[in-house]
Amino acid sequence: MELNHFAIPEMLSLIYEEMDVDTIEERFVNLVAEIFSFDRVGLFFVKHRRGVLQGKLCKGFTPGAISSLEIPIAGDSLFAKPLLSGYPFWESTGETDPFVQALGLTNFALIPIINNKRIACWDIKQCGEQQCPAYDKKWVRCWLLSQTKCCSATPQGTSDKICGQCPVFLRYDSRATEGVMLVDNSLSGQPIEKETVMLLSIIAHSVGMAINHSKAFTNVLQESIRDELTGLHNRRYFNERLVDELERAKRYDSRFSLLFADIDHFKAVNDTLGHQVGDAVLASLGRLFHRHLRHSDVVARYGGEEFAMLLLDTDKEKAVAIADHLRAAIAMEPVAHGEPPVKITVSFGVATHNEDGHSLEGLLGKADKALYCAKAQGRNRVCSA
Ligand code: GH3
Ligand code: MG
Ligand code: MG
Repeated sequence: MELNHFAIPEMLSLIYEEMDVDTIEERFVNLVAEIFSFDRVGLFFVKHRRGVLQGKLCKGFTPGAISSLEIPIAGDSLFAKPLLSGYPFWESTGETDPFVQALGLTNFALIPIINNKRIACWDIKQCGEQQCPAYDKKWVRCWLLSQTKCCSATPQGTSDKICGQCPVFLRYDSRATEGVMLVDNSLSGQPIEKETVMLLSIIAHSVGMAINHSKAFTNVLQESIRDELTGLHNRRYFNERLVDELERAKRYDSRFSLLFADIDHFKAVNDTLGHQVGDAVLASLGRLFHRHLRHSDVVARYGGEEFAMLLLDTDKEKAVAIADHLRAAIAMEPVAHGEPPVKITVSFGVATHNEDGHSLEGLLGKADKALYCAKAQGRNRVCSA
């Protein structure tokens, strides 16, 4: 097999630089198809809750042929084999598996995409086989090589029986597999060598780790901009968006309004019904805001019992009407359904970009002042700057 020299840095960049999961997967499929000149490549991911391998991406197959597939993860499914065992499967003869037949596969390999760090085989077994090509290597595994002491005598297709007894595999957890990659040469009949399967397994493991890291990164990023109790955005994110929207409004002469909302006499809710009920009220109020506002609006928990909203392309008249609609909806219905149901009211302050100021501090100050007015005038009302 002759490797394209540009493929190595491309693959390294995919593994170490790319942070978006969808991009990693797409580039992975394209690179594998290009580097190894496969007729067709497909990518499947595990859906643990549904107990299936869900097709996602492909190259060479007719559009939708892979993404429409849902393969049950069962012991007798060929596609589930690499997932359950952790090692690749490859075949160049006819198979009776219905999915193999449906895709017309006669000369293909299924590679597990492992997503966590594997402890090296020689380390687990403490084998001391220094002559083994897998010995002391970080990524190469005994079951991927034909010359190892462990697996050399194993004819292809029966290695799973021997490896299944091995301490390396007894530790294996199928949750450590992100999915399965299908590579296929059934159209050209070009053989798929064991060395290719080995190299692909190593690359797929690195890509699986990259997918795992990128998912963890996305989760941390999401957590850093969300308020845990209400699921709304937090104050930091809100302030950043406000700065961005001010920039945009300046550039495109667009308009937006800022809403501050504060629960009336919330201290009394906590004092009489307890902090837990208070928390339930906050969470349920967060859901109400989320339900009533547009997807493009930004809603945040700004402080303890204070919320802030950014209504894009909304002038003052409209913003006051929206705030009053929210106020009335809250006052009408119990926000938290307990025994007895908890009813609250909320006061609102409104300020609009341009009409009430151009600066961050100016607008925040005006909205805050308007909220203070609503409180001073008796609460459960909307005041604007
Ligand atoms: P006002 O109408 O003037 O706004 O009266 P208030 O009682 O709502 O205002 P005050 O500032 O006196 O009290 C706010 C209360 O909000 C006190 C605090 O314990 C409560 N609070 C803040 N954060 C949380 C929270 O995360 N959970 C709960 N349960 N209560 C909170
Ligand atoms: Mg309050
Ligand atoms: Mg307050």
